Amino acid sequence: MTADTRGKKVGFRPRLVKAGRGDPGGQAVELAGWGNYPVVRGYERVSENLPRITQGAVLTRGLGRAYGDACLPPAGDYAIAASRLADRLLAFHRESGIVRVEAGFPLHRLNRMSLPLGWFTPVTPGTHHVTVGGMVASDVHGKNHHVAGCFGEHVRALKMRVASGSIIECGDSKADLFRATLGGMGLTGHILEVEFQMERISSPWIWEESERIDNFEDVLEKLEVAGQEWPFTVGWADFLVTGANAGRAILMKGRWATDAEAPAGLPKWRNTVAFPLRLPNWALQTWMMRIGNFLNYSKHGAPIRSGITHPEAFFYPLDILSQWNRVYGKRGFTQHQAVLPAPHTHRRHEQFLRLLHDNRAKVFLSVVKDCGDEGRGMISFPKRGVSYALDMPVDQDTQQLVDRLNDFVAAEGGRIYLAKDAFTRREHFAAMEPRLEAWNSVRRQWDPEYRLKSALSVRVLGDPA
Ligand SMILES: Cc1cc2nc3c(=O)[nH]c(=O)nc-3n(C[C@H](O)[C@H](O)[C@H](O)COP(=O)(O)OP(=O)(O)OC[C@H]3O[C@@H](n4cnc5c(N)ncnc54)[C@H](O)[C@@H]3O)c2cc1C
Repeated sequence: MTADTRGKKVGFRPRLVKAGRGDPGGQAVELAGWGNYPVVRGYERVSENLPRITQGAVLTRGLGRAYGDACLPPAGDYAIAASRLADRLLAFHRESGIVRVEAGFPLHRLNRMSLPLGWFTPVTPGTHHVTVGGMVASDVHGKNHHVAGCFGEHVRALKMRVASGSIIECGDSKADLFRATLGGMGLTGHILEVEFQMERISSPWIWEESERIDNFEDVLEKLEVAGQEWPFTVGWADFLVTGANAGRAILMKGRWATDAEAPAGLPKWRNTVAFPLRLPNWALQTWMMRIGNFLNYSKHGAPIRSGITHPEAFFYPLDILSQWNRVYGKRGFTQHQAVLPAPHTHRRHEQFLRLLHDNRAKVFLSVVKDCGDEGRGMISFPKRGVSYALDMPVDQDTQQLVDRLNDFVAAEGGRIYLAKDAFTRREHFAAMEPRLEAWNSVRRQWDPEYRLKSALSVRVLGDPA
């Protein structure tokens, strides 16, 4: 496969632009995250030789599935390394389930390879078009955070290029750097290789139970109860509907099917369909999403349904339509993902919903998850509580809305997820993140001159541009 085919297959196409004067090496491109907002000019180096292209680069980028500016260089003549061709499997021990890969190894290949062998990634985000390096840098969480924690809990060792240029191995040794890198958004060093522990599975199929729930109070209660019984739980909620049904949801619960329940044979991977074009900004309207949500909710039929499901449909329902982010048009979209800490109080969640309604938030897609305890990542997102992920088109009101949501989240002791963010202000993030100082001090030990940075770190952490 040639270099760029691999990227294009999953919808990654940076636009080439004219090089500027201070060319740091690489191709001059316009880059964006999954939300297509913001768009930043920079230089991208793409090669199978990740150690070579990370030398002097300010950041490494995976498949660009972070929504906002975490995977973008700061504005200016900066080079980033793209890991997508550094995608070799280095070791897979069938007995122990220990895997070592180059950082650009994509999760979808890991899944296809490991499922028939009785292993699965211990933690997966809601798309499998991510690299393992990106999963470490965001310390991703999945539908099983309440039992398995973040991906970083399962990582044994990392090989990294740090800001000084040295290449080192960390894990049990250099433990501070290791913990600061889990969820450190690429700002503590370039991850070159990752070694981690896979999860043994009872069959390659999922046993799923889904439940239609009419109001948000019940959704939260049932999410909590389900977490005591099921390893995978998630709710797809409707925050556009108002009144007694506000926040109605489909609650999905799942576990790996037992041998006796599983159909004979392996699940066949689906053929995806690419969304063909970028729609004009006006094409997607709130009233359409209201109807879509209504249909999705109604088509569930019986209040509770259960049965065998394909793991791809269960874990990655949105991946069936590749490049679905184009439906939002050129303006792009953002996701505000925040965790509101336990214990659940109905007052708090009601206030959050009211805030969305009072501000006429265009929440086109919303997912609620149960989070377990904080893990090893010094600055990772999850903490015990409920996480809300809200997809919204970008418009002139977005900054004000995110400011108001963040006022609320900070006051309630919650925090936002940097991998989704494009609008949070520095003071809000500092107010939400008592661990920031400790993380920063490890970062400064390894990079006193701010050689590693991103558009996000300039905006949210105040790094010099
Ligand atoms: C549809 C969808 C669903 C999602 N669902 C979830 C979810 O359920 N849970 C969740 O936690 N996240 C979720 N995400 C977010 C996604 O999992 C993370 O943003 C992930 O990091 C993306 O991986 P990537 O390889 O595309 O990395 P990129 O988006 O390219 O980069 C993300 C961050 O990782 C850093 N990085 C990437 N590679 C390296 C490397 N080799 N060395 C150092 N730093 C690196 C980048 O600098 C950047 O800060 C979802 C995203 C999408 C689009």
